[in-house]
Amino acid sequence: METRIFRIDPDNIDKKSILQCADILKSGGTVAFPTETVYGLGANALDESAIKKIFTAKGRPSDNPLILHVHSFDEIKKYANNIPKIAGTLAHFFCPGPLSMIFEKKPMVPDSATGGLSTAAFRIPSDKIAMALIEATGLPIAAPSANLSGKPSTTDGSHVIEDLAGRVDAIIDSGRSVIGLESTVLDLTVSPIEILRPGGISFNEIKMVVPDVRKAFIHDAGNAPKSPGMKYRHYSPESPLIIVKGSISQVAARINELSADDFTTGILCSDETISLYNSNNKISAGSRSNPSEIASNIFHALRLFDKTGVSAIYSEYFNIGELEEAVMNRLIKASDKIIDTD
Ligand code: AMP
Ligand code: MG
Repeated sequence: METRIFRIDPDNIDKKSILQCADILKSGGTVAFPTETVYGLGANALDESAIKKIFTAKGRPSDNPLILHVHSFDEIKKYANNIPKIAGTLAHFFCPGPLSMIFEKKPMVPDSATGGLSTAAFRIPSDKIAMALIEATGLPIAAPSANLSGKPSTTDGSHVIEDLAGRVDAIIDSGRSVIGLESTVLDLTVSPIEILRPGGISFNEIKMVVPDVRKAFIHDAGNAPKSPGMKYRHYSPESPLIIVKGSISQVAARINELSADDFTTGILCSDETISLYNSNNKISAGSRSNPSEIASNIFHALRLFDKTGVSAIYSEYFNIGELEEAVMNRLIKASDKIIDTD
């Protein structure tokens, strides 16, 4: 399949390219596009055959539901039933932005979009290109992350081209994603409401608006997670990823010991700790005093290690406050082993 590549400057959006991409979506095609979280692979959420193309292009299991991207809260009302009042309050504080809200779906939303569930997740992205594209289609756009299933999510147009060129109709490349981690998924069909996936909006931020909220993403072995996507190994680089936990000095000592005889291991660390490692193959995800910088670089760093062909990646555990849950949820899902030095 030939994939058209559109390079769009987010500060000077080319309307013609947006209209061309909207036409592809309206006629049942697939378009990968930037959002503020990660890149998404979009298709018309109301068109069964367009939705199938997403699953095929990504190699995504068909029971893993998609998030429907819309341009306003009023749009959600067209496709969902029983929207509780608190949804409007949450939308007031966090939309557009990295929050996906789950409601009962209307029958017009095909079962294939929701992995057979009677509920559907909705998000209003703040990225200007995403917004312009969705508005130009007048449709809800189903868009999971624009990566091959199992690989790290794509946070740069070049990653999307690596994974999906030849598998989708078009790719919009607008450079790096600002947040770099997927949205927080919040189930509003239950009481108390539940966070099914930690993401760009933290538990405490949601708690400030709706005090009665619980975390449903920490699940015991044997208990199926409530968000189908959370049960798969995910986000993984090609080489094994080992997370080392404990005090900084112990972590650095253990990683140096483990990588002492192997010059081809990679080390994922922070600005504050990078000088502690002997290896030459180390990447800082950013400063521990700037958690959003670390969040935005995690997937990017995993893909960089893939490019340099390391034999293993050792990563520090990032205990960085509010965003720790989202960052460590992704890293732990991508990892093969966690070593606790305590
Ligand atoms: P992705 O689009 O790749 O970021 O994945 C979407 C995430 O949202 C997956 O973890 C899905 O399991 C979750 N999700 C989407 N819709 C629903 C739903 N109706 N119920 C529970 N989880 C959902
Ligand atoms: Mg994904």
